[in-house]
Amino acid sequence: MPEIVKTEGIVIKRLDHGDSSRIITVYSKDFGKFSGIVKGAKSSKSKIGSILDVMNRADLVFYNKENREIQLITQAELLNHFSYIKSNFELVTYASAVLELIEKLVLDHELNERLYRGTIKILELFDKRPDDFEFRFAKYLLFFIEESGYQLPLEQCIDCRKKLSDSKFVYLNYHTGFYCSECGKDHSYFEKMDEELFNLILCLNIKNCDSNKFDQNLIKKSIKLFERYLMFHNPDFKGLKTLSLF
Ligand SMILES: [Zn+2]
Repeated sequence: MPEIVKTEGIVIKRLDHGDSSRIITVYSKDFGKFSGIVKGAKSSKSKIGSILDVMNRADLVFYNKENREIQLITQAELLNHFSYIKSNFELVTYASAVLELIEKLVLDHELNERLYRGTIKILELFDKRPDDFEFRFAKYLLFFIEESGYQLPLEQCIDCRKKLSDSKFVYLNYHTGFYCSECGKDHSYFEKMDEELFNLILCLNIKNCDSNKFDQNLIKKSIKLFERYLMFHNPDFKGLKTLSLF
């Protein structure tokens, strides 16, 4: 017997199904990522259909049957539709990239409340019209990398344990992490990082880092680097499509 359950979540994808229904993918607080069918949602008069649109956050009621791939969603109450994000092309792009990360790299039903909260937080932040949205996105990416288990240790050299912030420059091995200038220099496939970029990454990792210290190009470079790092660890992930136009 399916059990009637309630959770809150964010709609990350929406597909039409048959004449009148839709299948949506939700990233939820209590059930992780799952798919659900919403009957009648395609009709323009359907209230639940308009609530369960991409990038909306809602309280949901659904019939949960564990061995079923698609759950039946019966009720929804809107919590936030992030209207400012949706009115701004650049913010839509970065917010969509957040949803794309969840869609492609988070496993179904995997629970991670920190990642869920961080994801809601970045969308709420985008909705407050920040000037530094690229910086915020880079910070979210680093957080996402840590929360999805591909942690990048930033304190010490993997080899000699020397503090990386004392090293003039550092090397990155996508497989293991960062090395100091001494330990990394003899490995041809390590990527030498410029000092500015590494300083930005260190700053992204702390709470009160001032985004004004860094220029846009450097921030974009860090986003590309984190993307390559995620691609290296997830061979099926071909990079963020939503950002490929930038
Ligand atoms: Zn070292």
